[in-house]
Amino acid sequence: MAVLYQKYRPQKFSEIFGQNNIRITLQNEVLHNKTSHAYLFCGPRAVGKTTLARILAKTINCKNRKENEFEPCNKCEACISINSFSNLDVIEIDAASNTGVDNVRENIISLSRVISTNNKYKVFIIDEVHMLSLSAFNALLKTLEEPPTNVMFILCTTEAYKVPLTIISRCERFDFKKISVNDMVLKLETIVKSEKIEVDREVLELISLKSDGHLRDAESLLSQIMSISDKKIDIDTANLVIPYNNIEENINLLKHLSRKDAMEAIKLVNDLLTSGVNLKLFVNDLIELLRKIILSKVSISLTSNLGLDLNEKMEIKISELSSIFTINELMELSQSLMLDIKEIGSSFIPQMPVEFTIIKFCQSNSKQNFIKEEVLLKKDQKILENLKNPSEIKKVDDFKESIKSKNEELKNEVLSLEKIVDLWPEFLMKLKPHNHSLSFVMQSCQINSVSGNKICLSFRYKLHKDRLDNPEIKNIVKKILKDVYNNDLDIETLVNEDLKINSTSNSNETVDNLLKTFGGQIIN
Ligand SMILES: [Zn+2]
Repeated sequence: MAVLYQKYRPQKFSEIFGQNNIRITLQNEVLHNKTSHAYLFCGPRAVGKTTLARILAKTINCKNRKENEFEPCNKCEACISINSFSNLDVIEIDAASNTGVDNVRENIISLSRVISTNNKYKVFIIDEVHMLSLSAFNALLKTLEEPPTNVMFILCTTEAYKVPLTIISRCERFDFKKISVNDMVLKLETIVKSEKIEVDREVLELISLKSDGHLRDAESLLSQIMSISDKKIDIDTANLVIPYNNIEENINLLKHLSRKDAMEAIKLVNDLLTSGVNLKLFVNDLIELLRKIILSKVSISLTSNLGLDLNEKMEIKISELSSIFTINELMELSQSLMLDIKEIGSSFIPQMPVEFTIIKFCQSNSKQNFIKEEVLLKKDQKILENLKNPSEIKKVDDFKESIKSKNEELKNEVLSLEKIVDLWPEFLMKLKPHNHSLSFVMQSCQINSVSGNKICLSFRYKLHKDRLDNPEIKNIVKKILKDVYNNDLDIETLVNEDLKINSTSNSNETVDNLLKTFGGQIIN
């Protein structure tokens, strides 16, 4: 079997999953003839930087592409030679190799001055550009300062901070992010469909989780699994190949902590150690999970923006846990664990720092809960005392009455578009625990209109529309709509390929602080 990531490497813009903003911007630049002479593609490894670079190089050289198109034809002589890496004007250099450095210094500069006769553009794709030597960067800078006509540089890097600012400032910069679990599952689904193999969705979700946003890793894991069986692959078969998954045990540990059960929590850590689990990796994964829970408590859309979404099953478990802990408890716990990580290697008993953190957390936790319970008790007493006073009882009745009449009001009210939009975040919040990936789909749709009891929603992708048209899914959505809007609403769905996907941005102080603590950035 050919290596999947080579076989299914996207050959045009529309085949790319994830990196939507970057893809759309580049498509528009091609469409309006406004491409730059230098690009910097930054971001983690295996998220599609060189793939997109090749598609860009191909489409600007495609001989069949019309003025109002942005996709390469993949049929003309230029497209075919670029696909087979034999085009003399599209030059790929791996700067991580020694020859790469020499190439830049000696060849690129002179080559870029030679005008191509066969192709419209000469394109240099320099991978891992941060590895170039200072003299190579200087040579490159000279070329970027006075760019020859019809030459394009696409510089790719996993470590943008190592690229000199003088170079960065002369490039159009794009920051690639890790591929979300949702996008990854979509891509894997298209592969198994083409390979005519039945693979449970649960397996695809697990692969996506394990590969942590790196598409190439996901594809190579999938090909290993597909080599076991050529008909149907369920989770038991897949588990033979997929490496041990810490997240289930991470969740179990948090469950013990939520019950302040230090004994069970410590037992779990020791059992894992005995069974050969790498404690450092386990704690690392736990910190990542805590970060996700904390950020989701700040804002639901934040975790999607940062590509931290997990599969549906996990999301439900996590949202249950999330409601038990306060944000401060979670932050204290992660800060302690970050210190533990450093001590695990040097401690005589490696698990001891983690055990102490568990004990500390369970003790402080019980004290806090104790205080909380006491406050609640006092509050209840106060209410009871107040209720002894007839005028207070009247007030409570008035209050109940006002809530009732508000609900009645909403029930009889003809819903306006404003009203729908207004309460949409509440709808998304209520939907998320039921079906996480669906809430993602609904987050990216647009509410077009409301007429009578029918709302019309448009989706960018047909597969999102199809998902909602599924009767079972539609029922879940209707149920929650009724809960939020107090109305039986009908749903009409449309596809609108021009739809831009927006998610609510959050830039308050808490978010900034969290990002500072954990690293990362919000990419819209
Ligand atoms: Zn072509």
